[in-house]
Amino acid sequence: MTFKDLGIIEPILKALNDAGYTNPTPIQEQAIPILLNREDLLGCAQTGTGKTAAFTIPIIQHLYNSKQDQKGRRKIKALIITPTRELAIQINDNITAYGRFTGLRNTVIFGGVKQGSQTNELKRGTDILVATPGRLLDLISQGFITLKDIKYFVLDEADQMLDMGFIHDIKKVIAKLPFKRQSLFFSATMPVSIVKLSSSILGNYKKVTI
Ligand code: AMP
Repeated sequence: MTFKDLGIIEPILKALNDAGYTNPTPIQEQAIPILLNREDLLGCAQTGTGKTAAFTIPIIQHLYNSKQDQKGRRKIKALIITPTRELAIQINDNITAYGRFTGLRNTVIFGGVKQGSQTNELKRGTDILVATPGRLLDLISQGFITLKDIKYFVLDEADQMLDMGFIHDIKKVIAKLPFKRQSLFFSATMPVSIVKLSSSILGNYKKVTI
């Protein structure tokens, strides 16, 4: 199995080739077709399995394919929330690598630092936003971000998110999302609290376990 067999488009194939990825990992083989088919996904997977590429590549592909439909200022169309600054930076760096030949823009925001450089980036417009929950809500309330154009939503490391006490923040974010969207939910473990949370986010979904 190759990325080409999975239906990945040329500008992304070229970037994956440059990154030295020869074949998809098991979670990529399973998740990419589901996501390209615009279905919701519940992914039970640890970091290190290649899950970041599994969810970012289809989002980049969808956005690239609909790029000509966009007019005017870039709107945030994909939102990925993750619990820590380190993960947020890592996901954003991966998107930069996989999307480098697509002309899409991606931005990362997280707390614990001054907001100036982040809000400057946002003012320039972005297609994909990677965020930690607190800073996201903060910049929404200040009017720097709107979620009304979101078409792709990813909640990453959901169990860690709950352990860190982000449940209320996550619920506030979900309440601001458009109803019509593709949603992806990833967690390394699936206790009852996580299953409950996933059902408040996902519509009909496919499940992938690694
Ligand atoms: P993740 O589980 O998303 O944290 O990815 C773990 C590591 O695997 C990251 O350093 C990725 O760059 C790398 N990776 C992801 N997919 C592939 C692939 N298909 N081939 C080789 N390396 C990969």
